[in-house]
Amino acid sequence: MKALITAVLLLSAAAAFGSLTFSQDAGGSIIEWEPFEGNYESLVLRASDTEYDVEEPEWGTVVATVMPDEEGILPTSVQLPAAFIVDRSKCIADNICVNQCPTGAISIDTDGKAVIDANSCIACGICAAVCPVNAIFAPNSSLYYGLFGVNEEGMEEFIQGSPQ
Ligand code: SF4
Repeated sequence: MKALITAVLLLSAAAAFGSLTFSQDAGGSIIEWEPFEGNYESLVLRASDTEYDVEEPEWGTVVATVMPDEEGILPTSVQLPAAFIVDRSKCIADNICVNQCPTGAISIDTDGKAVIDANSCIACGICAAVCPVNAIFAPNSSLYYGLFGVNEEGMEEFIQGSPQ
């Protein structure tokens, strides 16, 4: 019954706030969203292999942070770099990916999580193949995406999701 209520809430939220679209070009993946109401300091785009759950405060992994332009206007799309991304909630920091990456693009950050430098990543996929907990992925159309607005208190508010 709770799952049904959540599904209805999500559907009506997606219907009310629009939904994200995923596309790809030579430069990488593009996520677009529909114009929305609300003033935000920035936007955060998260991705996950599980559907957005309003009950899960730390849902998904941040794949992009979008800032307003000089006139304070937030864009309605973002191009994701053609780089692999670490799902921090899954990473066990066992260093296998760090040692296997041919370009040295991966390091372990101060929180003990692997981080990929998008500028050094050549998207070869080795890290994703060797990761024992499947924590590394490349943005793709089979993932769930969620757009969140960051308000003046730094809180993330759900704006739009990618229906599947
Ligand atoms: S995809 Fe390849 S280059 Fe990029 S971080 Fe993984 S192993 Fe390194």
